[in-house]
Amino acid sequence: MRLSRYFLPVLKETPAEAQIVSHRLMLRAGMIKQASAGIYSWLPLGYKVLRRIEQIVHEEQVRAGHIPMLMPTLQSAELWRESGRYEDYGEEMLRIKDRHGRDMLYGPTNEELITDIFRAHVSSYKDLPLTLYHIQWKFRDEIRPRFGVMRGREFLMKDGYNFDIDKEAALHAYNRHLVSYLRTYERMGLQAIPMRADSGPIGGDDTHEFLVLAETGESEVFYDSQITDLRFGEREVDYDSVEECRAVLEEFTSRYARTDETHDETVFHEQVPEDRRRSARGIEVGQIFYFGTKYSDAMGAVVVNDKGERMPVHMGSHGIGVSRLLGAIIEASHDDKGIIWPEGVTPFHAGIVNLKQGDAAADTACEGLYNALVVKGLDPLYDDRSERAGAKFATMDLIGLPWRITVGPRGLEKGVVELTSRRTGESEELAPETAVDRLVQIYAGHL
Ligand code: ATP
Ligand code: MG
Repeated sequence: MRLSRYFLPVLKETPAEAQIVSHRLMLRAGMIKQASAGIYSWLPLGYKVLRRIEQIVHEEQVRAGHIPMLMPTLQSAELWRESGRYEDYGEEMLRIKDRHGRDMLYGPTNEELITDIFRAHVSSYKDLPLTLYHIQWKFRDEIRPRFGVMRGREFLMKDGYNFDIDKEAALHAYNRHLVSYLRTYERMGLQAIPMRADSGPIGGDDTHEFLVLAETGESEVFYDSQITDLRFGEREVDYDSVEECRAVLEEFTSRYARTDETHDETVFHEQVPEDRRRSARGIEVGQIFYFGTKYSDAMGAVVVNDKGERMPVHMGSHGIGVSRLLGAIIEASHDDKGIIWPEGVTPFHAGIVNLKQGDAAADTACEGLYNALVVKGLDPLYDDRSERAGAKFATMDLIGLPWRITVGPRGLEKGVVELTSRRTGESEELAPETAVDRLVQIYAGHL
């Protein structure tokens, strides 16, 4: 993309309404624009990152054996009356009447709809296990929408639902989700710690939330500091193996880590030596639940088992806050000049800054670099505007591309361009072809 042809409405002023850094930077970098309280338009740069995050979530769900589909945003109130949640959900649910006076709602989550699909089409244990998921907009009429996309009213969520023959099989699905979530967040450059949590209106006993530690987080958390040393890394886990998935769950959940709803000071003191006890703030970027037969009992989702008996299916639901993740990643990765995107989610792989637009040699070198990167499957942003170098650098720093190639007549006389890391600020002078090769290597694991 050439910046002169792009739509990147960066703001010079810091918007007064934004209280936390990720919200300020998303507005300043021209990523989002508020449409009304807690509802945002995704401008091209923000939309690009949203799509990259979605892509990673899809890839990791499919890798785990989960099946993508798409359910609508608008749902009929009938199903929610069946489960009993139409009354229970309260004011967070946006209720709508259609022209025939029928009660509809904008889905805050999809347990009812998916259970209805399941009971219409599945009746035998032979069709299990089954995990279906979608990435779809949700609406929750939050009492206090704030912090930009972090607590919106309309937000994008991946929600997945597992159907299993018994508790044991459903717990394997739970563990499989935990493993896939650890991989997902690490690919986005994030450490998200599974913490024992409270089940809220979804219901159920087994549940973990995934938290990214950040001062601006809305949740209060308590944990053993050893847990922050754990990394999922490059390991391969067989998602069909009950033992392998359970081993990961045990490794990542055996140390004390809880949100304030389940925190128990006595247990905390018993289990964690004083020098490792931490309390901090965190951003919830996902949650997994096992809730047994709550919905299948209420809605009659039954399968016949191998002995011919009719059994209610065991279910769980599993969510990732796709749009909230943009805010969480920025909270975890920025400096006073702007955003620093991890390679896994960056909107463009590298920025090309032409120090002297209109200089024949510089223009030709930039075009050459641009084309060479595109041929290699990379997605560069070329700042081809007739701006001062300082202004071009400031824009690149603000929008946070992890790598910048700077091209100017003086370097070109020596046959070099400059490759700069946004994270460390370190620069290296390289022949243009070498800079391209370097970027190809850096992104090899991310394309
Ligand atoms: P919270 O406690 O933050 O209100 P929740 O526990 O009600 O969230 P879940 O039902 O677990 O949310 O939804 C799955 C994920 O969706 C959450 O982990 C979070 O990342 C994201 N999410 C929930 N509410 C919002 C919101 N209002 N805006 C953006 N993302 C949200
Ligand atoms: Mg939650």
